[in-house]
Amino acid sequence: MERIAWHQYFMAQSQLLALRSTCTRLAVGATIVRDKRIIAGGYNGSIAGGDHCIDEGCYVIDNHCVRTIHAEMNALLQCSKFGVGTKNADIYVTHFPCLQCCKALIQAGIKTVYYAKDYKNHPYAIELFEKAGVHVEKVPFQESSIDVKHKEKATLMIQLIEDLRQQGLPEEKIRHYEQEYIKLFNE
Ligand SMILES: [Zn+2]
Ligand SMILES: [Zn+2]
Repeated sequence: MERIAWHQYFMAQSQLLALRSTCTRLAVGATIVRDKRIIAGGYNGSIAGGDHCIDEGCYVIDNHCVRTIHAEMNALLQCSKFGVGTKNADIYVTHFPCLQCCKALIQAGIKTVYYAKDYKNHPYAIELFEKAGVHVEKVPFQESSIDVKHKEKATLMIQLIEDLRQQGLPEEKIRHYEQEYIKLFNE
């Protein structure tokens, strides 16, 4: 079995956290890491004990949901709640942070932002990161990194498709399965 690389390990944690999001607009997860150790995590959600967007619908003002606290902010606030320093820490986020979160991350002393997906990357945020000397790097999440049977599944699919071709399934259908295979296994 292959060992999971650090970037994928921490990004996987953020992907898991995103699955806990309670806002239907965007599922985001964030993991704060210091010296290769996870010190905090957060996801898009309401304040503790508050109404959830998934139950009540989003509370939208000026095209933003005002009910939720963003994943990055929740992770930073978890640190402040428990008195954990964030200076020189790294953060792994599923999406490029919004402008407000970018400012908070800079101010909290985060030194590297790893993000998996571009999301309305604001030019002012990029400028602020540059000025503050924060390293920003895209680290696409590979689902295969957390699927220990990835290779076996892929091999089985290829065999099945080949068998279907031998059985005389119309080429058009075979091509459909091949395209689905590529979507699933070649991320
Ligand atoms: Zn919402
Ligand atoms: Zn944000």
